[in-house]
Amino acid sequence: MLPDLKNLTLEELEAFIAGFGKERYRARQIMKWLYHHRVSTFEEMTDLAKELRTRLSRKARISSLKLLAVQTSRDGSKKYLFELEDGGLVESVLIPEEGRLTLCISTQVGCAMGCRFCLTGKGGLARDLTTGEILNQILGVAQGLNGKERITNIVLMGMGEPLANYENVTRALKVMTADIGLGLSYRRVTLSTVGLIPQMKRLFKDGVRCRLAVSLNASTQKVRSYLMPISKKYPLQSLLETCRRLPLPPRERITFEYVLIRGINDSETDAQRLTRIIKGVRCKVNLIPYNECPDLPFNRPTIQTVLLFQRILIEEGYTALLRESRGEDISAACGQLRGRIKGS
Ligand code: SAH
Ligand code: SF4
Repeated sequence: MLPDLKNLTLEELEAFIAGFGKERYRARQIMKWLYHHRVSTFEEMTDLAKELRTRLSRKARISSLKLLAVQTSRDGSKKYLFELEDGGLVESVLIPEEGRLTLCISTQVGCAMGCRFCLTGKGGLARDLTTGEILNQILGVAQGLNGKERITNIVLMGMGEPLANYENVTRALKVMTADIGLGLSYRRVTLSTVGLIPQMKRLFKDGVRCRLAVSLNASTQKVRSYLMPISKKYPLQSLLETCRRLPLPPRERITFEYVLIRGINDSETDAQRLTRIIKGVRCKVNLIPYNECPDLPFNRPTIQTVLLFQRILIEEGYTALLRESRGEDISAACGQLRGRIKGS
C-alpha cells in the first residue's frame, strides 16, 4: 500500500517532497490542503501543478476512516465508531461541556496494559493506531459537525495507552498543535498515561507539547500493582518522583486521575494517604467514580463516599474535581470502550 501522507509531520513531509526534487514550501501547501481545507484527493490541491498532483497520487495516498455508526447519549455526548482499513474498529467520544467541545480519541486498538478494572484492557492489544488513524478520528468527527460547532479540546483517553505507541502518538500531537496542522493550543490537548516513566521523560526531552494526565488510581503500591500490573515495573514511588522532577512549563500542572472503586481505593485513609504521597508535585486531581463494566467485579462507591474523598483532598489544599464520565448509557464512558474487531 502507498504511504499515507497523514502519517507525516511537516518536517517529514518536507523530506518526502524533497525526494521528488520539489521545493520545500510545497509541503506547507499540502499540509494546508490536508488539515485546513481537509480534502481527500490530490486532485483538489489546485495550487499544485497538475504534474505534481499526478506524481503524488502515484507515490502516496490520503487516508480516511469509515464512519460506521454514531450513538447519542441522553447527556448529549456522542460515540463514533470507525472502521480501519484492516477491519479493526475504534471508538471516539465527543463531549459537549460548558463553553467547550472535547473529543476523546483512541491511540491503539485495545491495550496491552491489562488494568483489571478497564474493559479495553481486558481484551488485550490488537495493534497500534497509525498517526493518520489518530488524526482521522478528529477529522472524521469534525466533518459531521454543523457550521457553528468546533472541537476545542482533545483528550487522548480513549482506547489504548498513548505512550506505548510513542512515535505515532507524538507525531499526531505535533500535527494537532502546529498552526499548519490542526492549530490547537497545546493547553487544549491532554495525553493520559498509565505511568510509563521512560516515555514520560522522553516527551519532555523531545519537546513534545501537550498536557499530561497520569492515572494514579491508588494510594499504595500494593493496591496499585493489583489494579494496574504496570505498577510492578514502574512503582508508584518512582512514578511520583518522576512527576516531581518533570520540567513542567511555568504554571502548568499534572492532572492525576483517580478512579474511585468501592472498597478498593475509596476509603478516608486512602484519601489522606493520597494527599501525602502527591505532596510536592504541581498537580490537580480528577476523581472519576468507577463506571461499572459487564464481567468486571468492581463497583462504584456511593456519592457520599466520593464527596468525602474529594473533601479530604480539598481540605489539604488540592484542586480536586469530580469528573462524572459521560455517555454511560451508550457504553462510551471511561473504561467502557472495547477494541473489537468487526463482527466480534
Ligand atoms: N491508557 C491511558 C488512557 C486511557 S484510559 C490511561 O490509562 O491513562 C483513560 C482513563 O480512564 C484512565 O484514567 C483510566 O484509569 C480510566 N478508566 C479505565 N476504566 C475505567 C472505568 N471502568 N471507570 C472509570 N474510569 C476508568
Ligand atoms: Fe489500558 Fe488505560 Fe485501560 Fe489501563 S486504563 S488497560 S492503560 S486503556
